[in-house]
Amino acid sequence: MTSGLIRCGHCGQANRVPAVAAGTPRCGKCHQPLPWIADADDATFGDVAEGAKIPVLVDLWAPWCGPCRMVSPALEQLARDLAGQVKLVKVNVDTSPRISQRFDAQAIPTLLVLRRGQVIARQTGAAPLAALRTWVDDALASAAGLSRPKKQNDRAERSGQINSARPGADLRRGAAPLCGSRRPPRSTGPRRRRLATAGRRA
Ligand SMILES: [Zn+2]
Repeated sequence: MTSGLIRCGHCGQANRVPAVAAGTPRCGKCHQPLPWIADADDATFGDVAEGAKIPVLVDLWAPWCGPCRMVSPALEQLARDLAGQVKLVKVNVDTSPRISQRFDAQAIPTLLVLRRGQVIARQTGAAPLAALRTWVDDALASAAGLSRPKKQNDRAERSGQINSARPGADLRRGAAPLCGSRRPPRSTGPRRRRLATAGRRA
Protein backbone atom coordinates (compact mmCIF):
# COMPACT_ATOMS: atom_id res chain seq x y z
CA MET A 1 0.00 0.00 0.00
CA THR A 2 1.54 3.28 -1.10
CA SER A 3 1.89 6.37 1.02
CA GLY A 4 3.10 9.72 -0.23
CA LEU A 5 4.57 12.93 1.12
CA ILE A 6 2.02 15.75 1.05
CA ARG A 7 2.95 19.33 1.83
CA CYS A 8 0.47 21.14 4.07
CA GLY A 9 -1.23 24.04 2.27
CA HIS A 10 -1.37 26.03 5.51
CA CYS A 11 2.05 25.72 7.13
CA GLY A 12 4.17 23.99 4.47
CA GLN A 13 5.00 20.98 6.66
CA ALA A 14 5.65 17.79 4.69
CA ASN A 15 3.47 14.98 5.99
CA ARG A 16 3.46 11.28 5.16
CA VAL A 17 -0.13 10.44 4.17
CA PRO A 18 -1.14 6.76 4.05
CA ALA A 19 -3.41 5.45 1.27
CA VAL A 20 -5.73 3.94 3.89
CA ALA A 21 -6.59 5.46 7.25
CA ALA A 22 -9.46 5.30 9.74
CA GLY A 23 -10.14 9.03 9.65
CA THR A 24 -8.99 11.79 7.30
CA PRO A 25 -5.34 12.93 7.29
CA ARG A 26 -4.42 16.12 9.12
CA CYS A 27 -1.17 18.06 9.29
CA GLY A 28 1.04 16.89 12.15
CA LYS A 29 2.10 20.46 12.83
CA CYS A 30 -0.97 22.74 12.38
CA HIS A 31 -3.72 20.04 12.37
CA GLN A 32 -5.43 21.40 9.23
CA PRO A 33 -6.91 18.78 6.85
CA LEU A 34 -4.39 17.52 4.28
CA PRO A 35 -5.11 16.75 0.63
CA TRP A 36 -5.61 12.99 0.25
CA ILE A 37 -4.37 11.53 -3.03
CA ALA A 38 -3.80 7.80 -3.38
CA ASP A 39 -3.28 5.16 -6.05
CA ALA A 40 -5.34 1.99 -6.12
CA ASP A 41 -5.61 -1.13 -8.27
CA ASP A 42 -7.75 -4.26 -8.46
CA ALA A 43 -6.29 -5.56 -5.20
CA THR A 44 -6.42 -2.37 -3.12
CA PHE A 45 -9.51 -0.55 -4.46
CA GLY A 46 -11.78 -1.96 -1.74
CA ASP A 47 -9.62 -0.62 1.09
CA VAL A 48 -8.46 2.61 -0.55
CA ALA A 49 -11.70 3.76 -2.23
CA GLU A 50 -14.71 1.86 -0.90
CA GLY A 51 -13.50 1.84 2.68
CA ALA A 52 -13.06 5.63 2.85
CA LYS A 53 -15.30 7.53 5.25
CA ILE A 54 -15.43 10.60 3.01
CA PRO A 55 -16.61 10.74 -0.64
CA VAL A 56 -14.01 9.53 -3.13
CA LEU A 57 -13.19 11.06 -6.49
CA VAL A 58 -11.98 8.19 -8.69
CA ASP A 59 -9.81 8.92 -11.74
CA LEU A 60 -9.74 6.01 -14.18
CA TRP A 61 -6.76 6.79 -16.37
CA ALA A 62 -3.96 5.24 -18.42
CA PRO A 63 -0.41 6.35 -19.25
CA TRP A 64 -1.12 6.53 -23.04
CA CYS A 65 -4.12 8.85 -22.61
CA GLY A 66 -3.42 12.51 -23.42
CA PRO A 67 -6.67 13.92 -21.93
CA CYS A 68 -5.89 12.00 -18.71
CA ARG A 69 -2.58 13.84 -18.38
CA MET A 70 -4.42 17.13 -18.99
CA VAL A 71 -7.08 16.52 -16.36
CA SER A 72 -4.74 15.11 -13.71
CA PRO A 73 -3.42 18.49 -12.39
CA ALA A 74 -7.00 19.81 -12.15
CA LEU A 75 -8.04 16.80 -10.09
CA GLU A 76 -5.04 17.26 -7.77
CA GLN A 77 -5.96 20.93 -7.38
CA LEU A 78 -9.50 19.88 -6.42
CA ALA A 79 -8.08 17.43 -3.88
CA ARG A 80 -6.07 20.29 -2.33
CA ASP A 81 -9.03 22.73 -2.37
CA LEU A 82 -11.37 20.10 -0.91
CA ALA A 83 -8.93 18.68 1.65
CA GLY A 84 -10.87 16.83 4.34
CA GLN A 85 -14.00 16.62 2.14
CA VAL A 86 -12.94 14.35 -0.70
CA LYS A 87 -10.26 11.74 -1.35
CA LEU A 88 -8.73 11.44 -4.82
CA VAL A 89 -8.05 7.85 -5.88
CA LYS A 90 -6.25 7.18 -9.17
CA VAL A 91 -6.66 3.85 -10.94
CA ASN A 92 -4.54 2.91 -13.98
CA VAL A 93 -7.05 0.92 -16.06
CA ASP A 94 -4.27 -0.91 -17.93
CA THR A 95 -3.12 -2.60 -14.73
CA SER A 96 -6.58 -2.79 -13.09
CA PRO A 97 -8.80 -4.70 -15.55
CA ARG A 98 -11.39 -5.67 -12.91
CA ILE A 99 -12.00 -2.08 -11.80
CA SER A 100 -12.03 -0.92 -15.43
CA GLN A 101 -14.66 -3.53 -16.29
CA ARG A 102 -16.72 -2.94 -13.15
CA PHE A 103 -17.14 0.76 -13.94
CA ASP A 104 -17.39 0.14 -17.70
CA ALA A 105 -14.54 2.51 -18.52
CA GLN A 106 -14.87 2.43 -22.31
CA ALA A 107 -13.34 5.88 -22.69
CA ILE A 108 -10.90 7.56 -20.37
CA PRO A 109 -10.53 9.57 -18.35
CA THR A 110 -13.66 8.31 -16.62
CA LEU A 111 -14.27 10.20 -13.39
CA LEU A 112 -16.51 8.90 -10.62
CA VAL A 113 -17.62 10.19 -7.28
CA LEU A 114 -18.19 7.31 -4.85
CA ARG A 115 -19.88 7.46 -1.50
CA ARG A 116 -19.39 4.28 0.56
CA GLY A 117 -18.63 2.43 -2.66
CA GLN A 118 -21.74 3.63 -4.53
CA VAL A 119 -21.39 5.76 -7.68
CA ILE A 120 -23.16 9.07 -7.11
CA ALA A 121 -21.74 10.94 -10.10
CA ARG A 122 -19.93 10.00 -13.28
CA GLN A 123 -18.32 11.88 -16.12
CA THR A 124 -16.33 10.77 -19.13
CA GLY A 125 -13.68 12.91 -20.74
CA ALA A 126 -11.52 15.77 -19.61
CA ALA A 127 -13.02 19.10 -18.59
CA PRO A 128 -11.61 22.41 -17.33
CA LEU A 129 -10.98 22.87 -13.63
CA ALA A 130 -14.01 25.16 -13.15
CA ALA A 131 -16.38 22.62 -14.72
CA LEU A 132 -14.88 19.78 -12.67
CA ARG A 133 -15.22 21.84 -9.50
CA THR A 134 -18.92 22.48 -10.19
CA TRP A 135 -19.47 18.80 -10.95
CA VAL A 136 -17.72 17.63 -7.76
CA ASP A 137 -19.44 20.31 -5.64
CA ASP A 138 -22.83 19.13 -6.92
CA ALA A 139 -21.95 15.50 -6.17
CA LEU A 140 -20.77 16.33 -2.64
CA ALA A 141 -23.93 18.40 -2.03
CA SER A 142 -26.14 15.51 -3.15
CA ALA A 143 -24.07 13.11 -1.01
CA ALA A 144 -24.63 15.29 2.03
CA GLY A 145 -28.29 16.02 1.27
CA LEU A 146 -31.44 14.00 0.76
CA SER A 147 -31.78 11.20 -1.76
CA ARG A 148 -34.75 12.75 -3.59
CA PRO A 149 -32.98 13.44 -6.91
CA LYS A 150 -31.53 9.91 -6.94
CA LYS A 151 -35.01 8.36 -6.62
CA GLN A 152 -36.20 10.36 -9.61
CA ASN A 153 -33.22 9.12 -11.59
CA ASP A 154 -33.92 5.52 -10.63
CA ARG A 155 -37.51 5.81 -11.84
CA ALA A 156 -36.45 7.47 -15.07
CA GLU A 157 -33.86 4.75 -15.69
CA ARG A 158 -36.39 1.98 -15.14
CA SER A 159 -38.76 3.55 -17.68
CA GLY A 160 -35.92 3.96 -20.17
CA GLN A 161 -35.86 7.77 -20.15
CA ILE A 162 -32.18 7.99 -19.36
CA ASN A 163 -29.56 6.25 -21.40
CA SER A 164 -27.10 5.80 -18.61
CA ALA A 165 -24.50 4.24 -20.88
CA ARG A 166 -24.07 7.47 -22.83
CA PRO A 167 -20.77 9.08 -21.79
CA GLY A 168 -21.27 12.26 -19.83
CA ALA A 169 -25.01 11.66 -19.36
CA ASP A 170 -24.73 12.43 -15.67
CA LEU A 171 -23.02 15.76 -16.16
CA ARG A 172 -25.88 18.00 -15.34
CA ARG A 173 -24.76 21.58 -15.57
CA GLY A 174 -23.66 22.30 -19.12
CA ALA A 175 -20.06 21.23 -18.67
CA ALA A 176 -19.84 19.01 -21.70
CA PRO A 177 -16.72 16.86 -21.74
CA LEU A 178 -14.13 18.26 -24.09
CA CYS A 179 -12.59 15.05 -25.16
CA GLY A 180 -11.86 11.49 -24.16
CA SER A 181 -9.51 8.83 -25.35
CA ARG A 182 -10.92 5.66 -26.78
CA ARG A 183 -8.93 2.57 -26.03
CA PRO A 184 -6.81 1.63 -29.04
CA PRO A 185 -8.52 -1.31 -30.75
CA ARG A 186 -6.44 -4.43 -30.24
CA SER A 187 -7.65 -6.78 -32.99
CA THR A 188 -7.85 -4.63 -36.11
CA GLY A 189 -4.15 -4.55 -36.95
CA PRO A 190 -3.60 -8.11 -38.19
CA ARG A 191 -7.09 -8.22 -39.78
CA ARG A 192 -6.40 -5.01 -41.66
CA ARG A 193 -3.11 -6.45 -42.90
CA ARG A 194 -4.86 -9.62 -44.09
CA LEU A 195 -7.44 -7.56 -45.97
CA ALA A 196 -4.71 -5.51 -47.60
CA THR A 197 -2.94 -8.70 -48.72
CA ALA A 198 -6.20 -10.10 -50.13
CA GLY A 199 -6.77 -6.83 -51.97
CA ARG A 200 -3.38 -7.06 -53.64
CA ARG A 201 -4.02 -10.62 -54.73
CA ALA A 202 -7.42 -9.66 -56.27
ZN1 LIG B 1 0.15 22.34 8.52
